[in-house]
Amino acid sequence: MDGITDKVALVTGAGSGIGRATAERFAEHGATVAVADADEAAGSETVASIREAGGEASSFAVDVSDEASVREAIAAVTREFGGIDIAHNNAGIEGEGGPIDEQSTENWERVIGVNLTGVFLAMKHEVPALRERGGGAIVNTASVAGLVGAADLTPYYAAKHGVVGLTRSVAVEGAADGIRVNAVCPGVIDTPMIDRFTGGDDDAVEGIVAPQAMKRLGDPREVADAVVWLCSDGASFVTGTALPVDGGYTAQ
Ligand code: NAD
Repeated sequence: MDGITDKVALVTGAGSGIGRATAERFAEHGATVAVADADEAAGSETVASIREAGGEASSFAVDVSDEASVREAIAAVTREFGGIDIAHNNAGIEGEGGPIDEQSTENWERVIGVNLTGVFLAMKHEVPALRERGGGAIVNTASVAGLVGAADLTPYYAAKHGVVGLTRSVAVEGAADGIRVNAVCPGVIDTPMIDRFTGGDDDAVEGIVAPQAMKRLGDPREVADAVVWLCSDGASFVTGTALPVDGGYTAQ
């Protein structure tokens, strides 16, 4: 795909689910991939799968909620690969469910720390790296939870709405530097995060996909393809969008 081959792509949360699928897709399209995750063993599995398929990747440990860790990981990627052209800021957690009056402040701070501050810190340190290369593309993983509300997961929904706002604002700032910034807003996607919600129970899966017009789980590769396209030359005039990849969840 034009604009991906021979580029350096950093993917956070690349040890699992959507991030792993995106890392693999970037590699299939000829990018060198920096697989960044808090779970080093999971990141190494993604690297092994990319290398087995003939791609190029290395693993980097990062806690996206910790600025020193983000700064060091981006410096390490730059040292190893010479720079960064593309970033997919995707690491995220679901946190604990429950109505707002039962939500702990600790859970709020943890979810906001990873899902919102994590995207802020990543872009804060990626933008100068992309500027060094004369421009590039960033895609943040928001969610349908960044576009609509729902009961019982307020910290998560608030964080994802924040990711959409961050995306639009950094898109405006980055335009003069040739840096495009977009978000993907996945619906319910078949990943370990969703397995934790449903416990693999068929009725629970049916319930969770009910708001999606297509009445099925999305495949992580369906999100990955949207991310890769948003980073490609095919999306050269696309910036500041929050693209639903949601089987019609937000169409209704
Ligand atoms: P997942 O749990 O399968 O993968 C998340 C990855 O992020 C894991 O490898 C985990 O180790 C990593 N991670 C967690 N905290 C981290 C931290 N502090 N620093 C670095 N890495 C960390 O989940 P997934 O479903 O693939 O989710 C990926 C992203 O997509 C998340 O931002 C999630 O909110 C979002 N999302 C998922 C769905 C869905 O239905 N699965 C829908 C919409 C949005």
